[in-house]
Amino acid sequence: SRVTHFDAEVLAVRGSQAELRARHHMERRLRSGIVNGDLRLHYQPLAEVASNRIVGAEALARWADDELGPVAPIDFIKIAEETGLIVDLGRWALRSACREAATWPMFESSDGIRRRMKVTVNVSAVQLSQPSFVQDVSNALVESGLLPRCLCLEITETAVIGDMEATAKILQDIRDLGVTIALDDFGTGYSSLTMLRDLPADVVKIDKSFIDKIADETSTDSVLARLVIETAHSLGMGVCAEGVETNEQAERLADMGCDTLQGWLISKPLPGSDAFTQWLPTAVL
Ligand code: C2E
Ligand code: CA
Ligand code: CA
Ligand code: CA
Repeated sequence: SRVTHFDAEVLAVRGSQAELRARHHMERRLRSGIVNGDLRLHYQPLAEVASNRIVGAEALARWADDELGPVAPIDFIKIAEETGLIVDLGRWALRSACREAATWPMFESSDGIRRRMKVTVNVSAVQLSQPSFVQDVSNALVESGLLPRCLCLEITETAVIGDMEATAKILQDIRDLGVTIALDDFGTGYSSLTMLRDLPADVVKIDKSFIDKIADETSTDSVLARLVIETAHSLGMGVCAEGVETNEQAERLADMGCDTLQGWLISKPLPGSDAFTQWLPTAVL
């Protein structure tokens, strides 16, 4: 039978009600998952081009619920941000990552220098705007005994859309603790240059979308990646490329002077640090 305009509207409303119920359900499950310790962190190693060694790892949240099964981070992080659950989730991620990283071994690089691994933790806008945020970071360091310079916080451009000046002040307070700041997913927002100008940061992470076509020297993405690397270096910042999957991409990035590489070419995110701490003294690329 024919679907009338009215029927279609009713169906659309019913559809969105079902969606809403599903979201509420996921929100409830996530809330209890955070409280019950059902979330885990996986770690994706970061390779330094100059030394050809792993020098750190990014902590990435994972959640497998008894009822819902494994939920993609992009989905549960979105719900966490919309419901404010990201504050508890983020505090948990920060504390867990610091505690874990404090146990990572030191290693000797090819130049005979003893080095410590860094851990990077994602921070969302809602978390950053909490009055207790700087104190939370400081507490996580004291509790774990992790050296501040071994912690890096990743901030995305969308996290800063609000008040640039207030954000800059918070980031500077964090840096005063000795913690470093990375601008995540760089280039995907509409205010990348403003961010470079107005925010105190130590590292730029070039988004994967610019890396995908980088093996083609004539691609716009390739030209832009080079521009980002040169600009960041001129401003005294380091550069990390995200989502590096092929040797060609790694070679191009190394030629362009990119400092660190992250992506499946080096390793997928791993459930624990056991695996990659074993490769610390060996070449990764
Ligand atoms: P992100 O911070 O940009 O993290 C990088 C994402 O790219 C991760 O996805 C990682 O698994 C994936 N990835 C890394 N290398 C490659 C590669 O070579 N190829 C491809 N195709 N993908 C690669 P994941 O783990 O699904 O996380 C998605 C996003 O969820 C993260 O993006 C981050 O924005 C957010 N997220 C994860 N954990 C946390 C957290 O603890 N707090 C907050 N606020 N956000 C988090
Ligand atoms: Ca990140
Ligand atoms: Ca990213
Ligand atoms: Ca991303």
